[in-house]
Amino acid sequence: MDFIIVGWTTRDCDEATGYMFCPVCRARKPAAQIARKTFLTSFFIPLFPIAVHAEYYRCEGCRQFFDPAARVPYDFGDHPNPVLWSCHTCGSMNPSHRERCEACGADACGADA
Ligand SMILES: [Zn+2]
Ligand SMILES: [Zn+2]
Repeated sequence: MDFIIVGWTTRDCDEATGYMFCPVCRARKPAAQIARKTFLTSFFIPLFPIAVHAEYYRCEGCRQFFDPAARVPYDFGDHPNPVLWSCHTCGSMNPSHRERCEACGADACGADA
């Protein structure tokens, strides 16, 4: 009697690499975007993904995983330097992981946010 062994396996796949602000390292670090996927397998060989569960960022500095939905300005992307925002009060430039202006302390969201 022949039969096919079908099962599933869960793997973490690198979706993209880039840089992020790591709250553990407190610095901008090389990072990867990870997707946890379940693959249908046949004879233990993964065939194709049947579900994507969650996405994470992994800091290559401390090897920790981070939830992209958390309220942390990771600023993940392929740019090694942080995106800058200009303060609406004093006009100075601030890196993306600062929620407040380094010069005057104004909120990044603006006064009427
Ligand atoms: Zn880190
Ligand atoms: Zn300012």
